[in-house]
Amino acid sequence: MSYNVNARCTQTNNQAVKCNGEQIAGKAEFKALPYAYDALEPYIDKLSVEIHYSKHFQSYYNNFMAAIKSSEIESMSIKDIFKNVSKYPAAVRNNGGGYYNHMLYFENMKANGSGLPTGDLLKAINKTFGSFDEFKKQFSDAGKTRFGSGWAWLCMDNKRNLFICSSPNQDNPLMDIAERKSTPLLAMDVWEHAYYLEYQNKRTDYIDAFWNVINWDIVEKRFMNK
Ligand code: MN
Repeated sequence: MSYNVNARCTQTNNQAVKCNGEQIAGKAEFKALPYAYDALEPYIDKLSVEIHYSKHFQSYYNNFMAAIKSSEIESMSIKDIFKNVSKYPAAVRNNGGGYYNHMLYFENMKANGSGLPTGDLLKAINKTFGSFDEFKKQFSDAGKTRFGSGWAWLCMDNKRNLFICSSPNQDNPLMDIAERKSTPLLAMDVWEHAYYLEYQNKRTDYIDAFWNVINWDIVEKRFMNK
């Protein structure tokens, strides 16, 4: 398979899993969920988390691996693939996004999530949005108003400006097709498969519940690493 691009990180070492600090696509792993399936209850129910993680997320991973297998992009970092994702088959965009987005989402949740970020991230949120409550409102609205399936994001551009956006399907802000390219800091899945078993059509209730399970330590780490 050839997509006529430079694979910028051709592996010289078959054991290498990273390229310039970024995950090499073909070496991406499907890791175990770092908490129990019922850890997010009562906010997100056990069966929803189990099916979402072990079926939906696993399928995106499997299909992404299949989509890049034996191609030039297999040895590129996932982020470099996203930078040119419009040049590749839809299966790369949909499943690569599906894999990466779910990794961020499940990682940025935890049992007994703290209600508020701290430190420099909280300062940046307050400076950008005026208050945490205003940020919460705007982020929630991004999820509520995303038509159909997609994601709401807290993002940071390359000048470290924070902003909120949303994307359809499994697109994300790292992709070249994004309206405003940026680094995702907080991911919220608003596909029906994320909430339908417990909340049915009430996406707003799921979004309200999401605020109870955010792992702000991880979001802050993403903010500081950039
Ligand atoms: Mn999902």
